[in-house]
Amino acid sequence: MRFIFLGVQGAGKGTQSKALATLLNIPHISTGDLLRLAKENETPLGLKAKEYMDKGELVPDALVLAMVRERLSQEDAQLGWILDGFPRNLYQVGALDGLLVGMDQPTYDRVIYLEVPDNIVSPRLLERAKKEKNRTDDNPEVISKRLQIYHEETAPLIDLYKKRKLLVSVNGNQLLEAVTADVQKAATYDDAL
Ligand code: ADP
Repeated sequence: MRFIFLGVQGAGKGTQSKALATLLNIPHISTGDLLRLAKENETPLGLKAKEYMDKGELVPDALVLAMVRERLSQEDAQLGWILDGFPRNLYQVGALDGLLVGMDQPTYDRVIYLEVPDNIVSPRLLERAKKEKNRTDDNPEVISKRLQIYHEETAPLIDLYKKRKLLVSVNGNQLLEAVTADVQKAATYDDAL
């Protein structure tokens, strides 16, 4: 079982993709989490990524790809995984497909798209910024930069995966438990696709 989660920042991707990973007993792989960890640990990757993350920009594809390749080659990722925050632009889609072929891994089964309107996510992001003060990428200017990049670079993936018949949409603007239940159906019901 392999899944990709798509959705704007603050849509609840992290919470919902982690819940699904726990339920299915497969690793939850978040490029944002991996990059933040690298940044905290001040690894060479983390130091480079920091320059982009703190401005709300995407980290260069080559860096993110090397990191994803490394993570997907680990033992716990051989039977399934959930990718959260990757791919994030059209180039990364093609790169992931190539990576999986190269690693002899089957492609992903579904792309779960958490749909939440922008006017709902902006206050959520500001709220998160207040709670997690260490997230330098959650201040108002950086938030609006990230939303802009999402619409320009990531949103086109929705249509692409729709065309590939891999996309399942879930209404993310409901009570958290209702979203969790819908995500579970989207991931497991045969007729959800
Ligand atoms: P959010 O979904 O709240 O924007 P993430 O935790 O997914 O945040 O990512 C935080 C930051 O890490 C992004 O703003 C970006 O700089 C970087 N990042 C995460 N995933 C990718 C990716 N696939 N490609 C490039 N940069 C990424």
